[in-house]
Amino acid sequence: MTNDDLWRQALGEIELAVSRANFVTWFKDTKIMDQADGIVTVGVPNGFSKEWLENKFHKFILKSLRVRIPEIRAINYTIVAPSASAAKQLKSKPKKENVLTSGEQLDFKEFYIDPKTNLNPKYTLETFIVGSFNELAHAAALAVIKNPGRVYNPLFIYGGVGLGKTHLLQAIGNAILKENQNKKVYYITSEKFANELLNSLQNQTIQNFKEKFRDYDLLIVDDVQFFVNKTKTQEEFFHMFNTLFESGKQLVFSSDRSPKSIPSLGEINDRLISRMEAGVLVDISEPEYESRLAILKSKSAEKKVELPESTLELIALLIQKSIRELEGALNTIHIQSKYQNKVLNQEEVKSILSKNIKPRNAVTPSQIIKTVADFYDIPEKSIYEHTRKTEVVRPRQIAMFLIRDDLGGSYPFIGQKFGGMDHTTAIHAYEKISEEVKRNSKLEDELKLIRDIYQNTTATK
Ligand code: ADP
Ligand code: MG
Repeated sequence: MTNDDLWRQALGEIELAVSRANFVTWFKDTKIMDQADGIVTVGVPNGFSKEWLENKFHKFILKSLRVRIPEIRAINYTIVAPSASAAKQLKSKPKKENVLTSGEQLDFKEFYIDPKTNLNPKYTLETFIVGSFNELAHAAALAVIKNPGRVYNPLFIYGGVGLGKTHLLQAIGNAILKENQNKKVYYITSEKFANELLNSLQNQTIQNFKEKFRDYDLLIVDDVQFFVNKTKTQEEFFHMFNTLFESGKQLVFSSDRSPKSIPSLGEINDRLISRMEAGVLVDISEPEYESRLAILKSKSAEKKVELPESTLELIALLIQKSIRELEGALNTIHIQSKYQNKVLNQEEVKSILSKNIKPRNAVTPSQIIKTVADFYDIPEKSIYEHTRKTEVVRPRQIAMFLIRDDLGGSYPFIGQKFGGMDHTTAIHAYEKISEEVKRNSKLEDELKLIRDIYQNTTATK
């Protein structure tokens, strides 16, 4: 097999597993340059592609190559000027879907970060899922977009890693620009701010630097916790902050902790922090089960990933810490199913994800419903139907109760889960069962038995 053939085959497989935008962006102009002693050298057009292929796609590329030539052990990625032939190769593949349509080119544009604003157009409010864990932050963002520089100034959003701070900050910038293209919006991380400041001090361009910042209508500074320990940066930033603030410009910050928890390191730091605290502080907490599931559904639709609902439920149950990890898990499972060319069962999903999670008793709403249906000996699907037959109504109420009680599902979510019933049905079910269980020891025993079944089957299955 020639290098070109090998790469063409591998690309064919990779193309199926990654999004169109990713494929075009990261695999364009790539080529196998050399193959010797089990080491393949892949030529890439720039450092960006190199980084992405190394960090994001390496394992997958290696697998696709090994399936064809098992002796391959390693891959080197090396930057080469794009050759016309490699570019042509990607574009002139035989399948019709491979021709880029203008719509797909829009996708491709997603990765274009405007250097004037540092905004990435893919971070929008439309793709931002709102749940109880982040609804305050979202509402504050909307208020800022509606009335920049007014009441919610500065806006300070804090929360742990991978919970959506950058996404929301960028979405504010994108939304304000969408309303008014003439607004001067700028997004910067505190680290980049510090670097730029340092450079401008060294090059004696500090005046330009200051003027540039004075001009912004909206200044977004991400991860301000990194200002800690940088006295000079803090000082400049403090002045800039005051200038912008006093002229009614909007400031938005994020941090991994509240301003109070940023260690105090001197007077300027204290003044900066108390300025930040004087604005609006909102936190983003860890998403609860229901939001995690909603995010997975939205991401699957966005990326055209087709996985069964039960798999999404399991991922939502197992991955709890961050949305970034949730996305990672979704990608992993998607790629694995494509690669193994089958729907992975619950056990397989668990074992693939087990590296990232602590073991726990995983139960999903679907499993609860199935267990309840089995227990009362009715067909599972009847529970989802809007039937009023007594032999179905009661098990349905019990399943609703358990999903609420054990998984903390909200009423609208439960209603929806049961074939789109009204949330008042779920409220009624929950109240009825929780009242009745106090007086009815038979029901109490039944609930205990049902819980035993799903807790044990999921632990050992
Ligand atoms: P942080 O800045 O808090 O570390 P990010 O904003 O980088 O987190 O979010 C990590 C990933 O999760 C990003 O891909 C982002 O698009 C996604 N994400 C975060 N919050 C949400 C949300 N509420 N809805 C949809 N996607 C989200
Ligand atoms: Mg961030």
